[in-house]
Amino acid sequence: MEANQVNDQVIKSLLYQKKVCALNKYQYKELVDAATQLGLVKSYSKMKYDGIIYSIGQLVQLSIDGNRDKKTYGKLIGFCNLQVDEYLIPMIKVQKYINKLELPSKLKELQEGISEFELFQSEIEEWLFCTQIDHEIRLITIKEYEEMTIQNERTYFTRADYNVEKDKFTPPISKWNRICICNQISNPDKSYIQCEKCLKWLHYECAGVQAQLAQDMNFYCAMCRKK
Ligand SMILES: [Zn+2]
Ligand SMILES: [Zn+2]
Repeated sequence: MEANQVNDQVIKSLLYQKKVCALNKYQYKELVDAATQLGLVKSYSKMKYDGIIYSIGQLVQLSIDGNRDKKTYGKLIGFCNLQVDEYLIPMIKVQKYINKLELPSKLKELQEGISEFELFQSEIEEWLFCTQIDHEIRLITIKEYEEMTIQNERTYFTRADYNVEKDKFTPPISKWNRICICNQISNPDKSYIQCEKCLKWLHYECAGVQAQLAQDMNFYCAMCRKK
């Protein structure tokens, strides 16, 4: 029984630490592993939290404990309850979706080209506390996102997956749609104007157009004006 006692202590010390500050991603896993070994884990296919029923496969916005401003995203891939003494501790397993802020910042091109509302499915799986769920989000394609008429803070888009360990996008950046005479990765956060003749989309800055005037002017790009 000695092994169990050790595990029991692991769980209690992790839960105690959770009260004091946030756990790191290894500690969440340690917690679930220790509880699983002790048979304290019950798995479910759905979970009710804060009056809302969550199911496997749903995407959610999550708060990192101790930092309510820092958001992270994930697909729900597992639910369990840890039974510790008289307490039931609901936990979720998520497949992480990476946002702009979590990508390595080395490429200026990416900083310019990636939207605040863009997510990349990663290979990382993590356990977290159920209480970290903020709300469900909707994930659509970049094409659907660009066609959306009203922006909604719970709608995100994706155009690629990102493997964190290999630092690799699929499809690769070279296959992403580019736009304008500057040939930049298309970023729906930016403002574009369309040439009436060749129908190309250009950034306001690259077109030399002021935002206030763009609404009601007939715009022809430099190439079309020359003809
Ligand atoms: Zn441009
Ligand atoms: Zn044109």
